[in-house]
Amino acid sequence: MLNATFEPLCVVSARRAVVLVLKEKAEVLHASDREFHSPGSVIPAPSVIRLNYFVKVPFRARASLNRRAVFARDDHRCQYCGAAAENIDHVVPRSRGGTHTWENVVAACRPCNTRKEDRQPAEVGLTLRRRPAVPRELTWIIVAVGTVHPHWEPYLQGTALSA
Ligand SMILES: [Zn+2]
Repeated sequence: MLNATFEPLCVVSARRAVVLVLKEKAEVLHASDREFHSPGSVIPAPSVIRLNYFVKVPFRARASLNRRAVFARDDHRCQYCGAAAENIDHVVPRSRGGTHTWENVVAACRPCNTRKEDRQPAEVGLTLRRRPAVPRELTWIIVAVGTVHPHWEPYLQGTALSA
């Protein structure tokens, strides 16, 4: 579902999208090959809809911090060594006042996580491959549905995470 400004807003079910279109709250930009049947009519299931009105949504409200979202943001890779991530690591340990925020949480492999324990990365010779930040749109879409439909890609340009 796109905002009136074409900004990606969130992922809704096809049924919810049909309701929004039937109530004339949204227009269909792309239909999928699925259909909804009701007595006397067949409605193609929308794949991309755009709201007819503008909604203001603070971005942080959409990207909730949890293990699955952190792994998606970090490509399931340890942010210290690049191995497959198994844990969530607080860069500045919570015992040292580190916060549970996007800027202080990264995916990590078990060896790096174990090596760090309650210390700062520099104290054990670890460096972050990139500075952790609040994820952009592509991450929360992948978290919501597991994949990005080809129809959606043109609307997500400029929102992808750099690898
Ligand atoms: Zn590692």
